[in-house]
Amino acid sequence: MSDDQEVFCGSCRNYCHGHTVTTYNDNGEVLRIVCGDCDLAERVARYMCTRVIESRLLLSAVCRTTDDDWSGEVRASYERIKMRVKYLERSWWLGAVQQMIDASSQRGWRADHALLTMLVWSCAGRTMVTLERHDGDHITLIAATSETGSTMGVQGIQATETTALAILDDAIRAHEAGALTLVPDDKVGMI
Ligand SMILES: [Zn+2]
Repeated sequence: MSDDQEVFCGSCRNYCHGHTVTTYNDNGEVLRIVCGDCDLAERVARYMCTRVIESRLLLSAVCRTTDDDWSGEVRASYERIKMRVKYLERSWWLGAVQQMIDASSQRGWRADHALLTMLVWSCAGRTMVTLERHDGDHITLIAATSETGSTMGVQGIQATETTALAILDDAIRAHEAGALTLVPDDKVGMI
């Protein structure tokens, strides 16, 4: 969007300075433009109703210095989720799985399990791992493909804390039971 266009927020009706968020319909037509403040307020309101943590809300919470009720809560959830991610990293990623992916020219992999689907995509020294429930809730992790130390972190999320922890636990248990076998899948792309 060029700077000389005047854009007014579809929610507060004020002139939008800087950051705007545009919603499109399926035909690519603009449905609505809102200012950054209104967008955040709407995302926070959704979170307060559902407790579903979305990637952009998580980013907003992590970047925030004030301890609002919502951002402190999201950051606390994030800390607990990160601890479980570290457990998954130690039990599943570091070792045989990492070595297999690091040594392979194959970029996309997947593992299907009764409780979740795991999609793995490796490129340019980074490996992304999406753990997805069949209802669409998911968490995406990222790790350095060749580094043997702890590098795994959260890249994206669409789940409550409870669900995110359950997804990670399901993956850990499935791996421990030998039921999370990665197979090459060229259809797995940028995830
Ligand atoms: Zn606004």
